[in-house]
Amino acid sequence: MHSFRYVKGQLQCEGVALASLAEKHGTPLFVYSQATLTDHYSKLDRALAPLDHLICFAMKSNSNIAVIRTLANLGSGFDTVSAGEIQRVVDAGGDARKCVFAGVGKTEEEIAYALRQEIYSFNVESEAELKRISKVAVRLRRIAPVAVRVNPNVDAGTHAKITTGTYENKFGIAFEQIEGVYARAAKLPNLRLRGLQMHIGSQLTDVKPFQLAVEKVVPLVDRLNRKHGFDFFSVGGGIGIVYRDALASGDPAWWLTKEGKKVLTPQTYADKLVPLLKPLGLKILLEPGRFLTGNAGALLTRVEFIKKTGKKNFVIVDAAMNDLIRPAFYDSFHEIVPLKKKAGATVSSDVVGPICESGDYFAKDRPLAKVGEGDHLALLSAGAYGSVMGSNYNSRPLAAEVLVNGTKSAVVRRRQEIADIWENEQTAPWQ
Ligand SMILES: *Cc1c(COP(=O)(O)O)cnc(C)c1O
Repeated sequence: MHSFRYVKGQLQCEGVALASLAEKHGTPLFVYSQATLTDHYSKLDRALAPLDHLICFAMKSNSNIAVIRTLANLGSGFDTVSAGEIQRVVDAGGDARKCVFAGVGKTEEEIAYALRQEIYSFNVESEAELKRISKVAVRLRRIAPVAVRVNPNVDAGTHAKITTGTYENKFGIAFEQIEGVYARAAKLPNLRLRGLQMHIGSQLTDVKPFQLAVEKVVPLVDRLNRKHGFDFFSVGGGIGIVYRDALASGDPAWWLTKEGKKVLTPQTYADKLVPLLKPLGLKILLEPGRFLTGNAGALLTRVEFIKKTGKKNFVIVDAAMNDLIRPAFYDSFHEIVPLKKKAGATVSSDVVGPICESGDYFAKDRPLAKVGEGDHLALLSAGAYGSVMGSNYNSRPLAAEVLVNGTKSAVVRRRQEIADIWENEQTAPWQ
């Protein structure tokens, strides 16, 4: 389902006109749709109904506590990557016992915190980490539930910066070494070998790489389960979403491109994977991030200037790469549309921010409705890896965030005050 659409020429999120939110709260402004979050979670949850499963929302994609609360209320668990993220779950009223904890560099303090919170499992990325978790667990007199992350060496065929399942990146342990690692882990004190985890990459729009990886890993899970008595197998995240034509007519637009081409749907995903996973008889964990949050959010921005240079038409907006870094970082495409629908011909435009970097752009040579100073635009599909990657570069305050639910809206992060940007800084005593 897609909750951003034009109604009488006005772009709305659910029942709220985005122009009214931009006027009321200013820009840049992230807007999230609770209905979309709920719909995407429920579709995935329903598709997986034949399996005993737990969806662990990869909250690194969007960790606003109102987003966490929305998903926690639906029964979601959480895939976390730091003590800070676990603390957010606790603070938002989520259940730490439904958290898994991933990441290649967990500190002793983070491990201790996670143990005290009784998380579901550590997703372990190295043998050194297994030893560290064991050591901390012994010290705290607790049993640490662990799952090792297997690197299945399957190419997800996605952008190099978001592929994780091949031997050229830092994640997980090589497929061939896994059984040896478990045998040694079984000898370490205070560990409970609870499962196995994999994750092959992000923004996968084809089910094939998932299928190949699961086919390869399932026999390994089965062997390890017989030996060590597992509870679960986590197939990771990575289900991709539509970025181009995100506003295409029709429902459910978010998985149909304008050409009617279907990208990965929860049902396709389940149809291919459930038959492979079901015979394991284990709980299946999923760690979707972008799939749940990507198309649930938009970034609203105001046009400051139109600048024509040579052949180029620059639309200079008040949002920048510090608010949404994906185009600069991953060459990502975000659909850009005016909040008030414009008739007439489009103009080939570069949409750029005010930051002093050539990389500070949102679109290049993009056919865009003719807009002028003061008009508002929405960058769609900005709900995942948007606000969470925000920074104060150029001493720009972090944007505000609003959650919409039907005709209601609420600020879920207030705009940062400029003076707050350097509140932790001080001059040196000799100055
Ligand atoms: C980032 C990440 C995810 C989520 O990826 P999406 O592409 O947003 O679904 C899941 N699991 C792990 C281990 C990750 O690092």
